[in-house]
Amino acid sequence: MNRILKFFLPLLLVLSLSACSKESGDVSGKFKAGTYTATVDGYNAPLTVKVVLSNSTIKSVTITDHKESVGIADIAIKNIPTAIVDEQSLAVDTISGSTTSSKAIIAAVVAAIKKSGADIDKLMIKSDNKVAEADITETVDVVIIGSGGAGLSAAIEASKAGASVIVLEQMPKAGGNTLISGSGYNAVDPKRQGAMGIEDSTDLFFDQTMESGDSKNDPELVRILVDGAYDGVEFLESFGMEWQDEISTAPGGLYQRRHMPANGALGVPMINALLKGAEEGNVRIMLNTKATEIVMDNNKVVGVIAEGKTGNKITLNVNKGVVIATGGFSANVEMREQYNTIWPTLDKNVLTTNHPGADGSGIELATNIGADLVDMEYIQLFPYGNPKNGSMTGSIMKQPENAIYLNSEGLRFVDEYGRRDVVSSAILAQTDSLMFVIVDGKTYVDDNAPTDFGTTIGEEVASSRSVKGNTIEELAVAMNMDPKIVKKEVDKYNAGVDAKNDVFGKTPMNKIDTAPYYGSPRTPTVHHTMGGIKINSDTQVLNKDGEVINGLYAAGEVVGGVHGSNRVGANALSEIIVFGRIAGKNVVTQ
Ligand code: ADP
Repeated sequence: MNRILKFFLPLLLVLSLSACSKESGDVSGKFKAGTYTATVDGYNAPLTVKVVLSNSTIKSVTITDHKESVGIADIAIKNIPTAIVDEQSLAVDTISGSTTSSKAIIAAVVAAIKKSGADIDKLMIKSDNKVAEADITETVDVVIIGSGGAGLSAAIEASKAGASVIVLEQMPKAGGNTLISGSGYNAVDPKRQGAMGIEDSTDLFFDQTMESGDSKNDPELVRILVDGAYDGVEFLESFGMEWQDEISTAPGGLYQRRHMPANGALGVPMINALLKGAEEGNVRIMLNTKATEIVMDNNKVVGVIAEGKTGNKITLNVNKGVVIATGGFSANVEMREQYNTIWPTLDKNVLTTNHPGADGSGIELATNIGADLVDMEYIQLFPYGNPKNGSMTGSIMKQPENAIYLNSEGLRFVDEYGRRDVVSSAILAQTDSLMFVIVDGKTYVDDNAPTDFGTTIGEEVASSRSVKGNTIEELAVAMNMDPKIVKKEVDKYNAGVDAKNDVFGKTPMNKIDTAPYYGSPRTPTVHHTMGGIKINSDTQVLNKDGEVINGLYAAGEVVGGVHGSNRVGANALSEIIVFGRIAGKNVVTQ
């Protein structure tokens, strides 16, 4: 298990690897021995490598400087230099889920080696020294498919209940889409909300969740969500997760009940905590292992068949059962198109915030053995996606009450505090389906102030994902908008705050009046699939006749029914922890 935790490395990891056995003359490149460095653009900032060459060998590759995203790029930072040295090739596999960082490292090594005068084309030939791994057959109490928040929570609870547990993960790292989530977690929390004078109750949480989902949600599941969410806060704390004292509103969160991690960004602290819990429970995580079939015998689930990294067959028999926790299908364009009835299109031109593992394969595993599906047409667009790559990077808004959205003409067009589906629809109706999110100096006191996505606002501006102005007019010019129109619009908004009367009915709302001002272009990108496998309140998977499929449980984004037609921002992480835990307990004890 330590093996798995090793990928959580410090931000500025400097990795030095010695060349291994391939000092022989079979190396295609002819080098001028020496030490070469090169710097290329990384995902967040420049990335620099140092390459040491003998006259026949790539001796070592060291990443000397980078700002790739912690927890997300770590595996590329660790593995790509090793692979280049081991394979003596630049045609190494990129790491799925860290593709941009992988490509940046390879590009930097190419640039460095070019300086030696080597023939790069010859080094682009793929090494053929990969060893096929053996087939495996094993028996275990519980198999969990997927290592995101739901899968790891289930694994922890199943191990606490005394079961031996294997988690299968198709990607080269654990954490799933949870790892790159915005990390907000909604829960009614009398201690933290109370200290801030925020009144809340599980009934209000329930009502808002139902209303936001147009009451298409399953009320029984929503009740379980709102009642169990706070326990999830403490569950995560028990494995070292620390929360900020301040409670805030997630974009599209509709109320101040969002918890944010005290240390670290994205889902990294949450996945770290869950991996710690899994390690304590002796849970085994098999990476690069894709479940391809759930095996039934006499109407009961008896095992899982999976494919290992080198195509080897892995057969796992289960004494107790299987939990499907494979996440959503936002990254599967075909499935999006198959089920979408709400949006004009969700074809490949609509980008996604999700990692490539959000491929919907768990839905197929379940339907192949007769599981029913629910709400598949409800697919959430994240209104605040990066127009260049669809991701959440560059999102500078912290709370919608402290931001305004302007279209390319410099005009507001929607209640910024509104539901995500409403905001997304409104953006799609604007020029180029684009808006600028505007925040002010109250959100970012200086250039070093952190965004919620692991960068500082200064870095956002330096990377041109955001623009900055010392006055509203200056910001308008930087956004290519008419300064007079933008100034008038901001003044009108501020007057509405004073009068407690907004043209779009926004409430709560705070003024945009403190320099400096920041703007970031945003567009809707596919974010969350609300529909999925139909479960009962014990998280047992149901078939089309409403009957339980014995030994089969599901939890997390792969399940439908919790969110209805529109998910409340920051309800997803609460859902995966609450239902993952229930599935993990029940698969052992029922
Ligand atoms: P949730 O938020 O519901 O926990 P995540 O997206 O965080 O979901 O995690 C789901 C994980 O399941 C991802 O890491 C994904 O790669 C993994 N996964 C999806 N399908 C399979 C499969 N067929 N076999 C193994 N792992 C899978």
